Amino acid sequence: MCSAVTPTQATSDAGIVRVVLDVPLDRWFDYLNPGLDIREGNRVVVPFAGRQLIGIVMALAEKSEFPEHKLKAVIQAFDDVPFDAATLKLLRFCADYYHYPFGQTVLASLPLRLRQIKPAVSRKMWMYQLAKPVPDGLIGKRQLVLSKLITALQQHEECNEAMLGEVSSGWRKAMLPLLESGLVTRREVVAIRPSLTASDHEPALNEEQEHAVNSILGALGRFQPWLLFGVTGSGKTEVYIRLLQAVLAEPKSQVLIMVPEINLTPQLEGRFRSRLSQFSLVTLHSHLSESERLQNWQAAQSGEARIVIGTRLSVFTPMPHLKMMILDEEHDSSYKQQDGMRYHARDVALVRAKQCKIPVVLGSATPSLESWYNATGSIEHPAKANKQPTYRLLKLTKRAAAQAKLPRIFCIDITHSPPEAGLTPQLKQAIEQRLKRGEQSLLFINRRGYAPVLHCSACQWLADCRRCSAKMVLHLRQRLLRCHHCGDEQAVPLQCPSCGNPDLRPVGQATQRIEETLQQLFPQARVARVDRDTIQAKDALTELLSAVHAGKIDILVGTQMLAKGHDFANLTLVGVLDTDSALYSPDYRASERLFAQLMQVAGRAGRGEKPGEVLIQTAFPQHALFAALQTQNYAEFAGSLLQERIVLQFPPATYIAVMKAEAADYALVSQFLEDLTHAAREFVAQQASNFSEMPIIYDPVRPGIARLNRMERGYVMLQCAQRNALQQLLHAAVAWAWQHPLQAKIRWMVDVDALDY
Ligand code: ADP
Ligand code: ZN
Ligand code: ZN
Repeated sequence: MCSAVTPTQATSDAGIVRVVLDVPLDRWFDYLNPGLDIREGNRVVVPFAGRQLIGIVMALAEKSEFPEHKLKAVIQAFDDVPFDAATLKLLRFCADYYHYPFGQTVLASLPLRLRQIKPAVSRKMWMYQLAKPVPDGLIGKRQLVLSKLITALQQHEECNEAMLGEVSSGWRKAMLPLLESGLVTRREVVAIRPSLTASDHEPALNEEQEHAVNSILGALGRFQPWLLFGVTGSGKTEVYIRLLQAVLAEPKSQVLIMVPEINLTPQLEGRFRSRLSQFSLVTLHSHLSESERLQNWQAAQSGEARIVIGTRLSVFTPMPHLKMMILDEEHDSSYKQQDGMRYHARDVALVRAKQCKIPVVLGSATPSLESWYNATGSIEHPAKANKQPTYRLLKLTKRAAAQAKLPRIFCIDITHSPPEAGLTPQLKQAIEQRLKRGEQSLLFINRRGYAPVLHCSACQWLADCRRCSAKMVLHLRQRLLRCHHCGDEQAVPLQCPSCGNPDLRPVGQATQRIEETLQQLFPQARVARVDRDTIQAKDALTELLSAVHAGKIDILVGTQMLAKGHDFANLTLVGVLDTDSALYSPDYRASERLFAQLMQVAGRAGRGEKPGEVLIQTAFPQHALFAALQTQNYAEFAGSLLQERIVLQFPPATYIAVMKAEAADYALVSQFLEDLTHAAREFVAQQASNFSEMPIIYDPVRPGIARLNRMERGYVMLQCAQRNALQQLLHAAVAWAWQHPLQAKIRWMVDVDALDY
């Protein structure tokens, strides 16, 4: 069971309090209890190295291994209990698996407010419910507010203050006599944003959806990963909604839904809110204010929130009655944390589901190869005959909405029709057609800014970043050169810094420049650009999306932000401008990512009644990736990629981890990594008889961006076909690194199952 374990009642008056702290040491710290009421899981304030820190109580003990007179006393104890045993168990697993200090793992999983030295106050609110049937004649003729109030209470099992606020601003006054007469009762709850805008439009499920829902519901109450593999628009969200309705029918039960980036998909949240309006729903993501975040987190932890929709960090949210987890777009790399503890929320979700004995549903039109491998296993890969599928595969092969068809995909060979200012004649013509028909177009180019390079034609000077081994991107509107890796900015030079030539030229295409080109080509068209630069404000994307839905935009230009989940009924053309660099990238994951990205962006076309068309500009129209894309045959493409990975011994056929190091001076990094390689190889040689699969330790190398923010970088890759052996090696390597004389002079970190190095 995954219920909250009540903290042990044992409170001790003069005992030892053992806590973890947000410090990079993987151990507990002992303090004396000066007589405070302290329980396991409590937050306490303790002195540490001249500072005061928040500690989380792991245990209460009679004795310490340290002499008591050397121990300091706890300064303060808060009576909130952020952790239960189930959550701590999950965090313990993660700290071990990702080789990250436990105290930092624990503290990082909390909302900021709970990491601060003050009590976590949350605003309390009331929930109102009808206690008995409404007597006839209660509502007089002109008592409109009262009548609306009663109707709302009759329609909902419970109403909270915001819901009633939607009914009428005068609801409080009208409510008083109802409470006094006992017709209405109320109870105190944590504040939750509610919804009155219910939608009962419920499409009849098609056969595949029905099968998916029934299969998953048939296996509740135990651990089971499901891979819901459904083409874009096949009705995965509808499946999630039905699952939630069924699971939440059980009193108290909770569901966690994870999405890659919630602010990119406001529509999704809206659909859950309106279709499941009778259940309290909270979101958890970085666009919330800290107090909202605390409030929502507490609502999840107390069990008040039945549905939690969140981004990757929400995987750690305590939920005492968690009965199911759903991960939408499970292939999305934003589930991987790229600093601190480098966890993958999908993998953590699987561990959590296993610990809680509940199903976890992974949904995608282009599953990650990891999940695909786990779901198809040896069936499609005789080369790894020992691999049994551990996930169960469910397929949705067609678009769900009656008229919607999958778009047709074509390649435009740019060696025959060279683009002018980024656009081939065919693409221009296709856009023009859409403008004439009053339909919308989307142009996808995965680079923001004006141009990726600023170049001097006289001396071949290029604008480099001062801090990174990377080019500065030209942002013409702000007249800035900006490094997309470290954020450094410089004014655009008026002449070449190297030879004085005033004629500096932007080279290549990016969103701003395409936007400008489109405005010149189609002056009557309404063009909107969507990238990190235009969508910084909290509601900017929501506003833009509603403009698109309202038909106020003709052409959208944007980065992958546009690729995700949006449902534009009148969008019939998707143009893909420049993806060739990813086709032949040295990164073995590049084609997997590109395929997913193109499939997603192509999925934006033809979601309404009108058929969609996708035009891809490329110099390599014969590439296997495009063939698979055109037939929308993910299974075949994934199969061939998997064969390649098996042959090359890359994940998911094997497991990898990288140990990264960086310092201002590469000599130090190099020394550290050389020593590491040596020590790790020695360890493996010594342990050889214990391993059924031998870990491989590669020589130190430098990443693509060798210098980042003035730090010289390098890494060592460790690889093994057996997870356990790799973990043992990592354990030894981390212990070794802590002892190394250079470890204080450089920064080093471990990235298990690394996606980027
Ligand atoms: P996905 O999440 O797979 O992209 P959605 O759940 O968003 O797909 O469904 C795409 C569209 O199809 C939505 O407009 C949705 O309302 C509609 N839809 C989903 N299931 C059905 C169904 N069974 N019958 C008719 N329309 C459906
Ligand atoms: Zn020059
Ligand atoms: Zn830089």
